[in-house]
Amino acid sequence: MQIRHLARLLEARPTPAPSAPGSDTEPAARSHRIRSTVERLARVERVPVRVVHTDTEVRDGLHREQWVLDSPLRGEFRATLLSPEPEPAPRPGILVLGGKNARREQLTGEVVPDHPDRNMAEHLARAGFTTLTFEYALTGGLDQRRLAGRDEGTLLAHAFTLTGRSLLGALTGDALAVLELLRTHERVDGGRVGLFGHSLGAAVALHTALLTEGEPPLCAAGHLGSYACLYARQLTGFEGAVLPGILEHTDLPALYGALAPAPLQLQFGTCDPYLDADDARAAGRAVAETYAAAHAPAPEIRELPMGHGTDVGHAVDFFTRALAQPPSAPAGVPAQRVRFDVLERRAVADRVDAALRSGVLTQGPLVTRFEDLTRQWTGRPGAAVASGSAALEIALRVIGVRGRTVLVPANTFFATAAAAVRAGAARVGFVDLELDGLGMDPQALTAALDRHPDTAAVVPVHIGGIVAPALDGVLDQCRARGIPVLEDAAHAFGSTLGDRPAGGLGRFGAFSFFPTKVATSGEGGLLSCADTGDLDHVRRWRDHGKSAPGSTLHDRPGGNWRMSELHAAVGTVDLERFGRTLAARRDLAAHYDDLLASVPGARPHTMPGQVNSNYYKYLVYLDEATDRTLLKKRLRERHGIHLAGEVYDHLLCDHPFFAGRAEPGDHPRARWFARHHIALPLYPSLTHAEQVRVVCALRSELP
Ligand SMILES: *Cc1c(COP(=O)(O)O)cnc(C)c1O
Repeated sequence: MQIRHLARLLEARPTPAPSAPGSDTEPAARSHRIRSTVERLARVERVPVRVVHTDTEVRDGLHREQWVLDSPLRGEFRATLLSPEPEPAPRPGILVLGGKNARREQLTGEVVPDHPDRNMAEHLARAGFTTLTFEYALTGGLDQRRLAGRDEGTLLAHAFTLTGRSLLGALTGDALAVLELLRTHERVDGGRVGLFGHSLGAAVALHTALLTEGEPPLCAAGHLGSYACLYARQLTGFEGAVLPGILEHTDLPALYGALAPAPLQLQFGTCDPYLDADDARAAGRAVAETYAAAHAPAPEIRELPMGHGTDVGHAVDFFTRALAQPPSAPAGVPAQRVRFDVLERRAVADRVDAALRSGVLTQGPLVTRFEDLTRQWTGRPGAAVASGSAALEIALRVIGVRGRTVLVPANTFFATAAAAVRAGAARVGFVDLELDGLGMDPQALTAALDRHPDTAAVVPVHIGGIVAPALDGVLDQCRARGIPVLEDAAHAFGSTLGDRPAGGLGRFGAFSFFPTKVATSGEGGLLSCADTGDLDHVRRWRDHGKSAPGSTLHDRPGGNWRMSELHAAVGTVDLERFGRTLAARRDLAAHYDDLLASVPGARPHTMPGQVNSNYYKYLVYLDEATDRTLLKKRLRERHGIHLAGEVYDHLLCDHPFFAGRAEPGDHPRARWFARHHIALPLYPSLTHAEQVRVVCALRSELP
């Protein structure tokens, strides 16, 4: 019998998610996994919601704003903001989310409430909070004859599942957008905002809290237990209060637990006909255990002699304590944030799934697509490889540097020179840089070439994403002497000099798709080259030196330098958005330029004409007097601001590995650069507000 099947299905404990990594017992890792699952299942489309109309009045000591909102997804809908009058200062804010049948007019006390605790928004406003309440519109608007008595909310929830979305996800999306309006309202202290929800509203508040920043306090009433009990035993669960598929990953108590350390109050009534008191009690214990495991202050589990309601006094007490002060120090700014939004993550997952289904896990259609996508940015064909270092090494092997000298800049990442050593170079020579574009200095190169007539390759590096105008001087000299140029363009994917793309100027261009670079495949690299013969050699070197694709004969000591389909799944998604990535990076750089104009003692690198940098690094020079190590420490410890790594703080010839290999000479410009620059955090998800924090902190810590 299908009914029995359903009961069995739902009675089953959620299986530990197949996606759970080994470290999942660690609270932070588990919370992170749950939040990413919720984000994926909820499929929240983050769209801006605008206030298109406001009516304000003051009545019974409350300031009341009736809003008409406009959402690109659901069109116009209404919301009400309540705030105590008079207004001495911005107050803590609470987003109030009622149950399925609670009307906004009741929640806000505009009409007489049908229960004394129904008008929660009004209660909380009278207790000193600014509250915001919006309508769900789950009823009305459908043809009553066709409905024939069926529940409109249930029909709506089913219609949502047809689209792969869910009613709860849609409500959560609305709540996230409305929460932003509350946070930025003039009567609200944006750092002190909490969520209240009852019944369906508690489910929406919970999912909103899981998907928003800043760990807001949550008070949830009348929504506690296990999904199995609510949906299969009590039969009271509403389709719109749960994410489809959630039980495959986790259960309601774990969702609440994932909020730790956010302040949490859970209320349930022992006579609530929708809940099972034992089940709710057990769920409360499970939440408390999760909080304890995360060393978070205990959640308040309030078991109350009431039905499906809210205890107003407990809720007011909770918010009064939880919102008394802003949450700890303002969040810092990390040096780096690699971020894929939920649609991009789904795209990666879909591609990985297709690869797993086909069984083609390396060197398949995704790698080909990855290579095709790079052409737009390098201007020529390329072969995907396992890493940037692999790309450098393969190029040097194709060129043939064994027993000869390879020239690299004095100031670059270790991998540039190490690749030459691995490819068999007898010597690595270091060339000073020029300070205009941070490229190899053509005059220093002339001297180095004269000193090393056996030079087999020259490897300029586009430091920080800048393709230096002086590169032409490097290319000309090498052409005149018949020496191939390999661009180490690991920093410079998407950068150009005029209309000439990085990695498209030398015989080879080597790129890295390591996560810290401007585009990533997790691990990965690319060699671009114009000559099809060269490309053919690259493909043979990367695949164990097979003498032809698919051959079992090997004619050179190749390696396994292939890119897997799984990496290409990530890489193709990242390259498909790369135009937006580049635009965002350039916008952020321009904003830093503006902000720094008023900071003496911090001078941004001046971009030479013709250079279109991808701003892999936003470089700033400090005055002679500034102690960089101390400055970075103070920014970190006093402001939570982490600067990006320098490029680089040591010259290659000063690394232990090259001690003794470096030639005498002191590379004065490279040395000056290494000592005096810093790199500000810059990544597409950085906000203008975060940039202001970075620059203010910098100004306050400069001598
Ligand atoms: C990152 C980087 C590399 C190495 O790339 P991987 O993908 O980590 O091997 C080489 N050269 C420079 C200049 C780099 O920044």
